[in-house]
Amino acid sequence: MKINNDTHICFSIISTGKCNCNCSYCHFYADKDRAAYNRDIDPKLFDRYVDYLKHLTTITPHIACRLSGGEPLFMGDAVFELTDKIYEETGISPYIMTNGKMLSPELIEKAAKHHISSFVVSVENPFAVSQGAVDADTTIEKFVNCQNDKVPLYFGMLVLENKEYKNIKKIADYFYEKTGTIPPMCEVNFVPFQSPTEEELNDLYENVKELVKSYNGKTAISLFPYIIPEFYSGNLEHVEYLTELPIDDKFNALSITNEELLECTQNQLEKSYFKYECPNTECDWQGSCNRLKWVWQMETDEISKEKKIEDYCRYKKVLCKAFFDALVNKN
Ligand code: SF4
Ligand code: SF4
Repeated sequence: MKINNDTHICFSIISTGKCNCNCSYCHFYADKDRAAYNRDIDPKLFDRYVDYLKHLTTITPHIACRLSGGEPLFMGDAVFELTDKIYEETGISPYIMTNGKMLSPELIEKAAKHHISSFVVSVENPFAVSQGAVDADTTIEKFVNCQNDKVPLYFGMLVLENKEYKNIKKIADYFYEKTGTIPPMCEVNFVPFQSPTEEELNDLYENVKELVKSYNGKTAISLFPYIIPEFYSGNLEHVEYLTELPIDDKFNALSITNEELLECTQNQLEKSYFKYECPNTECDWQGSCNRLKWVWQMETDEISKEKKIEDYCRYKKVLCKAFFDALVNKN
């Protein structure tokens, strides 16, 4: 996959391995020893990434950057040194992924002075509490109290277990009533993935259809981006691709040229958004199934690659039909 002057791409720099939460579902610590990663990114590696971003802006004007972790705000003022450097060197105002625990009106004011464009705040399902994470009501309160025209806050992805599909509309109503927005929502598609039952898919269909009928035109509807990116409105500027610049120098960035690093990014994108040739050439949704996110190729001890792609297809048909029935058939 080649990056050209039309590519909209966001680079997620893992700025720290420290975090002030202990979420049971955490992907970051799933394959890392937490104690070994209780540190920030090496400044030399960070500078190298910034230089690379600067190079990329000569290829496409549509480069975005975010800082994630761990918890970037747990770095204290050091995080502002990073955002200043990104802006000064590249002209890009980065956004920050946060669990929201440390957000305050004062911090947002400070963020505005340090070129931070926005915050994306992780949020939980208010009807199914996850251990170790910030509960939904605390996040909602912060979200409302910290809103600031200069540095807007958006909700991050709310991850739904299959059994919660029956609550999707209820969750949307809950958030809309308190904040006037609905968080983006997605399925569990990583290691704890479980094939949905027919009943769960039926709940998904009914809830998504009702949500779209109720909120289309009222607020952004951002649902299931790993399955139906074509319907995903997103909150931030249009980003086609998201890729990571890791806390460890996995790409050997300190020793290779920008051109070689670009090659690494392109190879990474090829794996992250793999080409898929569905044998069912008669399917109505063919056009939107030719590039899929890597998670649909990821097998686990319980689920084979074949079963995973079969489940992707079941999800795809149900979700497309829910949007189509809500917006076109209006039934
Ligand atoms: S806030 Fe993020 S990095 Fe921290 S434990 Fe939770 S999921 Fe992991
Ligand atoms: S929805 Fe399923 S059958 Fe249709 S194109 Fe996609 S993967 Fe193939």
